[in-house]
Amino acid sequence: MRKVYLDHSATTPVRPEVLEAMLPYLKDRFGNASSIHSFGREAKVALEESREKVAEILGATPSEVYFTSGGTESDNLAIKGVAFASRNKGRHVITSQIEHHAVLESCGFLAKEGFEITYLPVDSFGLIDPEDLRKALRDDTVLVSIMHANNEVGTIQPIEELSQAAKEKGIYFHTDAVQSLGKLPIDVSKLAVDLISMSGHKIYGPKGVGAIYIRKGTRITPWAHGGHHERSRRAGTENVPGIVGFTRALELLNAEMEDHKRHTGNLAQTLYRKLVDTIPDVVMHGHPQKRIPNILSLSFKGVEGESVILSLDLKGVAVASGSACTSGTLEPSHVLSAMKVAPDIAQGALRFSFGRDNTMDDVDYVAGLLPEIIQRLRSISPLYVKE
Ligand code: PLP
Repeated sequence: MRKVYLDHSATTPVRPEVLEAMLPYLKDRFGNASSIHSFGREAKVALEESREKVAEILGATPSEVYFTSGGTESDNLAIKGVAFASRNKGRHVITSQIEHHAVLESCGFLAKEGFEITYLPVDSFGLIDPEDLRKALRDDTVLVSIMHANNEVGTIQPIEELSQAAKEKGIYFHTDAVQSLGKLPIDVSKLAVDLISMSGHKIYGPKGVGAIYIRKGTRITPWAHGGHHERSRRAGTENVPGIVGFTRALELLNAEMEDHKRHTGNLAQTLYRKLVDTIPDVVMHGHPQKRIPNILSLSFKGVEGESVILSLDLKGVAVASGSACTSGTLEPSHVLSAMKVAPDIAQGALRFSFGRDNTMDDVDYVAGLLPEIIQRLRSISPLYVKE
């Protein structure tokens, strides 16, 4: 059966060049980067070269880049680490209603530890108003954490303006850039951002590896205690093959950023146009322009997203409902709820997320399947009333 993978925001395949770069470090160059013999030194060189390359791409210095196990760990370290290091200064943290669960749950943990959390609202496109942030900043605010691009609908936040507002008050600013890394330019010499979370498996790299940028001088309490790895900010033997793979993946995607944007955006737009032409009552979520182009979030009125996913899966097509983390539950996504999408429409939300290997044939295949699937599901749906 034909297979079409349209769930690149959940994860991506490891591209061949990345696997090739990793293999020596899984085979002969298996040393522990902390060992002082030649095996260890070889691993250490790879580790530090990776750090230099990631730093160069971000406009940072190598000592500001720390490798982690991925986006979740980086979010946890940024939020809990900064909040705890500054708790004598203040106990107020600002985030948004549409963050990834790694951010929301970290903030929830802080709330139980006596911090007060403000969740900024978004408009119907999923955008935060910088004025709302300015109004929420207080003398006891120690951290603002706002994502760069949303994982469910793709909306890009005005991160320059938001981070500037925090900087003017001397407050640390963290952004979760897991979905935007390699897809949007990120230059810390131009952004007033102090911490950035990154992940390998969204950029055609391996799972279980990522990084965090921590601006020099940022006060942060480590969460993993043990050896003096990552300059004592993240204990644990470094995942050298993963780090080499993450770095290669970032280098490649960063160099192809414009092509990737054009290619995936063209596929997503073409699918959207084809579906709107053939299926009535299609609703698009997110901002029409301020979005990472590879994500297309749609609802088909009157049908549940899960039913469409299963029907498409039977035909070899992989898409997501809401985000990967919320699928499996029938709760409407917190992102769409924050965007004030009506619950019955939010239940139908599907996320098509395109990648570099997708083709126009994939789009034609999916666009050919959906009208019949939607019509069938609507014919048995008590929810669907044709307008
Ligand atoms: N942040 C965002 C915006 C994400 O989309 C994800 C993954 O779904 C994560 C964080 C978590 O990253 P990881 O899977 O590397 O832990």
